[in-house]
Amino acid sequence: MFLEPHFRGQRSGWIEVICGAMFSGKTEELIRRLKRAKIANQRVEIFKPKIDTRYDDAKVVSHDANYILSTPISHSSELLELSEGVNVVGIDEAQFFDMDLPDVCVRLALRGVRVIVAGLDMDFRGRPFGPMPNLLAVGEYITKVHAICKHCGNLATHSYRLTPSPDTVMLGEKDLYEPRCRTCYHMGNILDLHTSESEGPGHKAGNKKPA
Ligand SMILES: [Zn+2]
Repeated sequence: MFLEPHFRGQRSGWIEVICGAMFSGKTEELIRRLKRAKIANQRVEIFKPKIDTRYDDAKVVSHDANYILSTPISHSSELLELSEGVNVVGIDEAQFFDMDLPDVCVRLALRGVRVIVAGLDMDFRGRPFGPMPNLLAVGEYITKVHAICKHCGNLATHSYRLTPSPDTVMLGEKDLYEPRCRTCYHMGNILDLHTSESEGPGHKAGNKKPA
Protein backbone atom coordinates (compact mmCIF):
# COMPACT_ATOMS: atom_id res chain seq x y z
CA MET A 1 0.00 0.00 0.00
CA PHE A 2 1.26 3.44 -0.90
CA LEU A 3 2.03 5.70 2.07
CA GLU A 4 2.58 9.41 1.57
CA PRO A 5 6.28 10.34 1.75
CA HIS A 6 7.44 13.01 4.18
CA PHE A 7 10.39 15.31 3.83
CA ARG A 8 10.72 16.83 7.30
CA GLY A 9 7.62 18.92 6.73
CA GLN A 10 9.02 20.48 3.56
CA ARG A 11 6.63 20.72 0.68
CA SER A 12 8.00 19.39 -2.54
CA GLY A 13 6.29 18.36 -5.76
CA TRP A 14 6.41 14.90 -7.25
CA ILE A 15 4.55 12.54 -9.60
CA GLU A 16 2.80 9.32 -8.59
CA VAL A 17 1.49 6.95 -11.27
CA ILE A 18 -1.15 4.28 -10.64
CA CYS A 19 -1.40 1.92 -13.60
CA GLY A 20 -2.89 -1.46 -14.47
CA ALA A 21 -5.55 -3.25 -16.51
CA MET A 22 -9.26 -2.54 -16.46
CA PHE A 23 -11.03 -3.54 -13.22
CA SER A 24 -7.73 -3.43 -11.31
CA GLY A 25 -8.84 -0.71 -8.90
CA LYS A 26 -6.82 2.23 -10.29
CA THR A 27 -9.53 4.80 -9.70
CA GLU A 28 -10.30 3.41 -6.24
CA GLU A 29 -6.62 3.81 -5.34
CA LEU A 30 -6.57 7.36 -6.77
CA ILE A 31 -9.65 8.26 -4.71
CA ARG A 32 -8.13 6.70 -1.57
CA ARG A 33 -5.03 8.90 -1.89
CA LEU A 34 -7.03 12.03 -2.67
CA LYS A 35 -9.32 11.50 0.32
CA ARG A 36 -6.27 11.14 2.58
CA ALA A 37 -4.84 14.38 1.15
CA LYS A 38 -8.14 16.11 1.96
CA ILE A 39 -7.98 14.81 5.53
CA ALA A 40 -4.50 16.37 5.71
CA ASN A 41 -6.09 19.73 4.73
CA GLN A 42 -4.53 19.78 1.30
CA ARG A 43 -6.30 21.58 -1.53
CA VAL A 44 -7.22 18.83 -3.97
CA GLU A 45 -8.45 19.06 -7.57
CA ILE A 46 -9.31 16.16 -9.86
CA PHE A 47 -9.32 16.17 -13.64
CA LYS A 48 -10.26 13.71 -16.33
CA PRO A 49 -10.37 13.80 -20.14
CA LYS A 50 -13.59 15.00 -21.73
CA ILE A 51 -13.68 11.82 -23.81
CA ASP A 52 -14.59 9.69 -20.79
CA THR A 53 -18.36 10.07 -20.57
CA ARG A 54 -19.11 6.67 -19.15
CA TYR A 55 -20.96 7.67 -16.02
CA ASP A 56 -21.16 11.34 -15.25
CA ASP A 57 -19.57 14.46 -16.69
CA ALA A 58 -18.47 16.03 -13.42
CA LYS A 59 -17.33 13.05 -11.38
CA VAL A 60 -14.42 10.69 -11.22
CA VAL A 61 -16.46 7.56 -10.84
CA SER A 62 -15.00 4.16 -10.09
CA HIS A 63 -16.74 0.86 -10.58
CA ASP A 64 -17.98 0.70 -7.00
CA ALA A 65 -19.66 4.16 -7.21
CA ASN A 66 -17.14 5.64 -4.76
CA TYR A 67 -16.64 9.02 -6.41
CA ILE A 68 -15.12 12.49 -6.11
CA LEU A 69 -16.20 15.54 -8.13
CA SER A 70 -13.86 16.26 -11.02
CA THR A 71 -13.36 18.72 -13.88
CA PRO A 72 -13.43 17.33 -17.43
CA ILE A 73 -10.79 18.99 -19.66
CA SER A 74 -9.96 18.60 -23.36
CA HIS A 75 -6.19 19.27 -23.33
CA SER A 76 -3.53 18.69 -20.68
CA SER A 77 -2.33 22.32 -20.96
CA GLU A 78 -5.53 23.41 -19.16
CA LEU A 79 -4.15 21.74 -16.04
CA LEU A 80 -1.55 24.49 -15.63
CA GLU A 81 -4.17 27.26 -15.29
CA LEU A 82 -6.74 25.23 -13.39
CA SER A 83 -4.24 24.07 -10.77
CA GLU A 84 -3.27 27.51 -9.40
CA GLY A 85 -3.01 27.31 -5.62
CA VAL A 86 -3.72 23.57 -5.57
CA ASN A 87 -1.59 21.21 -3.44
CA VAL A 88 -2.63 17.89 -4.93
CA VAL A 89 -3.73 17.28 -8.53
CA GLY A 90 -5.44 13.97 -9.37
CA ILE A 91 -5.75 12.87 -13.00
CA ASP A 92 -7.93 9.90 -13.96
CA GLU A 93 -8.05 7.96 -17.26
CA ALA A 94 -4.68 9.49 -18.18
CA GLN A 95 -4.29 7.15 -21.18
CA PHE A 96 -6.88 9.22 -23.07
CA PHE A 97 -4.94 12.49 -22.68
CA ASP A 98 -2.64 14.04 -25.29
CA MET A 99 1.11 13.35 -25.36
CA ASP A 100 1.86 16.68 -23.60
CA LEU A 101 0.53 15.32 -20.31
CA PRO A 102 3.89 14.01 -18.97
CA ASP A 103 5.49 17.45 -19.57
CA VAL A 104 2.57 19.21 -17.89
CA CYS A 105 2.87 16.89 -14.88
CA VAL A 106 6.60 17.65 -14.61
CA ARG A 107 5.85 21.39 -14.65
CA LEU A 108 3.23 20.98 -11.94
CA ALA A 109 5.66 18.94 -9.82
CA LEU A 110 8.31 21.66 -10.22
CA ARG A 111 5.75 24.13 -8.88
CA GLY A 112 5.52 22.02 -5.74
CA VAL A 113 2.33 20.16 -6.67
CA ARG A 114 1.84 16.52 -5.75
CA VAL A 115 0.51 14.95 -8.98
CA ILE A 116 -1.31 11.61 -8.84
CA VAL A 117 -2.03 10.07 -12.24
CA ALA A 118 -4.14 6.95 -12.82
CA GLY A 119 -4.48 5.20 -16.18
CA LEU A 120 -4.45 2.03 -18.26
CA ASP A 121 -0.87 1.04 -19.02
CA MET A 122 -1.87 -1.14 -22.01
CA ASP A 123 -4.65 -0.93 -24.57
CA PHE A 124 -6.70 -4.02 -25.52
CA ARG A 125 -3.97 -5.04 -27.97
CA GLY A 126 -1.45 -5.17 -25.13
CA ARG A 127 0.44 -2.10 -26.37
CA PRO A 128 1.53 0.87 -24.21
CA PHE A 129 -1.39 3.28 -24.06
CA GLY A 130 -1.07 7.00 -25.05
CA PRO A 131 1.11 9.08 -22.69
CA MET A 132 1.22 6.35 -20.00
CA PRO A 133 4.68 4.89 -20.81
CA ASN A 134 6.21 8.41 -20.68
CA LEU A 135 4.45 9.10 -17.38
CA LEU A 136 5.84 5.87 -15.97
CA ALA A 137 9.31 7.04 -16.99
CA VAL A 138 9.13 10.47 -15.33
CA GLY A 139 7.16 9.59 -12.19
CA GLU A 140 8.84 9.19 -8.78
CA TYR A 141 6.40 6.60 -7.43
CA ILE A 142 4.85 3.89 -9.60
CA THR A 143 2.13 1.52 -8.42
CA LYS A 144 0.93 -1.25 -10.70
CA VAL A 145 -2.38 -2.67 -9.51
CA HIS A 146 -3.84 -5.95 -10.77
CA ALA A 147 -7.25 -7.35 -11.44
CA ILE A 148 -8.02 -11.06 -11.12
CA CYS A 149 -8.12 -13.19 -14.27
CA LYS A 150 -11.68 -14.38 -14.88
CA HIS A 151 -10.46 -17.70 -16.27
CA CYS A 152 -7.72 -18.96 -13.97
CA GLY A 153 -7.72 -16.72 -10.89
CA ASN A 154 -4.15 -15.46 -11.39
CA LEU A 155 -3.27 -11.77 -11.32
CA ALA A 156 -4.66 -10.04 -14.41
CA THR A 157 -2.49 -7.53 -16.25
CA HIS A 158 -4.36 -7.40 -19.56
CA SER A 159 -7.72 -6.01 -20.69
CA TYR A 160 -9.26 -8.50 -23.10
CA ARG A 161 -11.86 -7.06 -25.48
CA LEU A 162 -14.86 -9.30 -26.00
CA THR A 163 -16.15 -7.53 -29.14
CA PRO A 164 -14.49 -7.44 -32.59
CA SER A 165 -14.30 -3.60 -33.05
CA PRO A 166 -10.79 -2.46 -34.07
CA ASP A 167 -11.04 1.02 -32.42
CA THR A 168 -8.44 1.51 -29.71
CA VAL A 169 -10.71 3.80 -27.71
CA MET A 170 -13.91 2.04 -26.82
CA LEU A 171 -15.30 2.95 -23.46
CA GLY A 172 -17.15 0.26 -21.73
CA GLU A 173 -18.05 -1.88 -18.85
CA LYS A 174 -17.97 -5.54 -18.04
CA ASP A 175 -19.79 -6.61 -21.21
CA LEU A 176 -17.04 -5.21 -23.46
CA TYR A 177 -13.86 -6.17 -21.63
CA GLU A 178 -12.63 -8.67 -19.10
CA PRO A 179 -9.42 -8.81 -17.08
CA ARG A 180 -7.04 -11.64 -17.98
CA CYS A 181 -3.56 -12.82 -17.04
CA ARG A 182 -0.95 -12.89 -19.79
CA THR A 183 -1.51 -16.59 -20.60
CA CYS A 184 -5.30 -16.40 -20.85
CA TYR A 185 -5.07 -13.11 -22.77
CA HIS A 186 -3.01 -14.82 -25.47
CA MET A 187 -5.46 -17.72 -25.68
CA GLY A 188 -7.95 -15.28 -27.22
CA ASN A 189 -11.53 -16.32 -27.85
CA ILE A 190 -10.86 -20.03 -27.30
CA LEU A 191 -11.61 -19.17 -23.68
CA ASP A 192 -14.86 -17.38 -24.58
CA LEU A 193 -16.20 -20.55 -26.20
CA HIS A 194 -15.06 -22.62 -23.27
CA THR A 195 -16.74 -20.47 -20.59
CA SER A 196 -20.07 -20.27 -22.43
CA GLU A 197 -20.45 -24.05 -22.41
CA SER A 198 -19.25 -24.81 -18.87
CA GLU A 199 -19.52 -21.92 -16.47
CA GLY A 200 -19.42 -22.55 -12.79
CA PRO A 201 -17.38 -22.38 -9.58
CA GLY A 202 -14.02 -24.09 -9.64
CA HIS A 203 -13.84 -23.79 -13.41
CA LYS A 204 -10.21 -23.50 -14.51
CA ALA A 205 -10.12 -22.68 -18.22
CA GLY A 206 -6.60 -21.31 -17.82
CA ASN A 207 -5.26 -24.84 -17.41
CA LYS A 208 -6.47 -25.86 -20.85
CA LYS A 209 -3.97 -25.39 -23.64
CA PRO A 210 -5.14 -24.16 -27.06
CA ALA A 211 -5.40 -26.94 -29.66
ZN1 LIG B 1 -5.62 -16.41 -16.56
